[in-house]
Amino acid sequence: SKKLKGNQAVLFHDELHQHLERRLYIEENLKNAAENDEIFFMYQPQVNARTGKIIGFEVLSRWKSAKFGWISPVEFIHIAEESGHIADLTRKMMKESFAFFQKLRTDCGFSGFLSINLSSKLLTDPGFAEEVRTLYEQMNWPKETLEIEITESVPLFSSEHVFDNLEDFRKQGICVAVDDFGTGYSALSYLHDFPLDKIKVDKQFVDQIDKSSRGEALLSSILHLANSLDLLVIAEGVETKRQLDWLVSRDCFRIQGYYYYRPLGEKEVTALFEKTET
Ligand code: C2E
Ligand code: CA
Ligand code: CA
Ligand code: CA
Repeated sequence: SKKLKGNQAVLFHDELHQHLERRLYIEENLKNAAENDEIFFMYQPQVNARTGKIIGFEVLSRWKSAKFGWISPVEFIHIAEESGHIADLTRKMMKESFAFFQKLRTDCGFSGFLSINLSSKLLTDPGFAEEVRTLYEQMNWPKETLEIEITESVPLFSSEHVFDNLEDFRKQGICVAVDDFGTGYSALSYLHDFPLDKIKVDKQFVDQIDKSSRGEALLSSILHLANSLDLLVIAEGVETKRQLDWLVSRDCFRIQGYYYYRPLGEKEVTALFEKTET
């Protein structure tokens, strides 16, 4: 058994080493990856289940690295936040997705919105909302077609600048959505104190449909809560017809999930409109 322990230690050492090596690689190569277009963007449609029409898209970052292949945004966004690269990545995401949507509007007549994920780190920067405004104004971007998604987090609610930025966004006519609603920061008072327009109900709640009556009760309460606070709702991670029907029968008709669409590349998005719209 001594031998076994020794092997386990070696194994652990190897795993730790690999983990650190990967992390270091990500940290050191993020900037280059963005410059060399190893990082690009996919767009996941959001659908009005009542009409079947696409109402908007969420832009999601992707990294295909030379060394490790696909690296998930769950992994690299977090590292980008810690290593200070998140501002550059976000700027790239905005520039590219704004330009693409500009084309989608003029070439394909798309009139829905684009939703972007903003790290709470960025919102603690006092001039951030202003910077976003400058970006879309340079591109003649109709601002009422922009949404931002923020996650519940401690930094989000502990900096006064966050509040000012959110207020600034709303004054600009930009919809502010709480992403992964119900999974982060636990106090709900912020729903009432903060300038918010929409909640995105996390997949973990949607997954409870047909599985657990307590889970369904919780999801129902979230929908009621949103309704009574006059917040819009979208459900994410909807994968089945049963989930869809359950949600729609409770008036939650904004839907994002594999049931309708996975995240799509620019060509696939364009093709969508060439086929169905106009
Ligand atoms: P998120 O904002 O909650 O995005 C939804 C994630 O769920 C996406 O994963 C999407 O591909 C996935 N998803 C959508 N529908 C379904 C479904 O029906 N079933 C399942 N199993 N999954 C579904 P993705 O693209 O891997 O992104 C993961 C997270 O990374 C995002 O979670 C977001 O928090 C973060 N992220 C991605 N791009 C960016 C970015 O540009 N900036 C920031 N700050 N965060 C980003
Ligand atoms: Ca999101
Ligand atoms: Ca989410
Ligand atoms: Ca998430």
